[in-house]
Amino acid sequence: MDHVLITGGSRGIGAACVRAFAAQGDRVAFLYRRNDEAARRVAAETGAFAVRADLSNPLEAKRAVGEAEAALGGVDVLVNNAGISQIKLFTDLTDDDWRGMLATNLDGAFYVTREAVRGMIARHRGRVINIGSMWGKVGASCEVHYSAAKAGLRGLTMSLAKELGPSGITVNCVEAGVIETEMNAGLDAKTRAELADATPLCRLGTPEEVAAAVRFLASDAASFITGQCLGVDGGYAI
Ligand code: NDP
Repeated sequence: MDHVLITGGSRGIGAACVRAFAAQGDRVAFLYRRNDEAARRVAAETGAFAVRADLSNPLEAKRAVGEAEAALGGVDVLVNNAGISQIKLFTDLTDDDWRGMLATNLDGAFYVTREAVRGMIARHRGRVINIGSMWGKVGASCEVHYSAAKAGLRGLTMSLAKELGPSGITVNCVEAGVIETEMNAGLDAKTRAELADATPLCRLGTPEEVAAAVRFLASDAASFITGQCLGVDGGYAI
């Protein structure tokens, strides 16, 4: 039984990860930012421990990891999933747009990982799984700040894998394609159809399909895999 911490576990891909780990008997805690109702539902359904915190703030991230570690008795598996998205022309991006995107999607992963890996290093055992995006690999028009943050996660994944490998910790990234979550609820039918058309498997993905890859990377079956970015995108970014 692993002790698993998932950021952004109240909805979407994060909630699917909470369900997947809880279903196999792991002890799970998750962070969320503000949606108390959704967090309560996932916690009640799975028995997971929910912590409200804005992980773009280093003090809140530290406090939240501490609470999760206390509730679980340490963290063996960290899933850096929390994220936001925004579609905007590059020339319209404000300083706040840019900083806000990087603060949640990249800085947040840094703050949480820095806290959570201390215990893993001490125990010489652990898994870190970052939820990236295919846009971090191939770039997305009108999502330059999002793509830059996700490309940063690739770099964090590869370099941290090298640094923490000798401590018995693997670090990998799951680069999702277009997945059916509230993040994409604003897409109109034409855009959704175009995205499905551009995907070799001819459809959008589900949160459960991403969670299955995360669970694999956390499992014993993935014990010799580190520093990798695994596309779960229906072949979109080949
Ligand atoms: P959702 O919008 O459905 O859920 C986002 C989750 O992150 C929520 O639990 C939210 O909490 C939490 N969150 C957001 N900001 C913060 C913050 N500052 N501090 C703490 N928690 C925060 O997103 P998805 O499930 O679609 O996406 C999850 C991850 O997958 C993201 O990193 C995203 O970039 C990535 N991804 C998604 C794709 C997609 O097509 N959906 C494609 C590729 C990657 P709350 O409920 O309180 O708001």
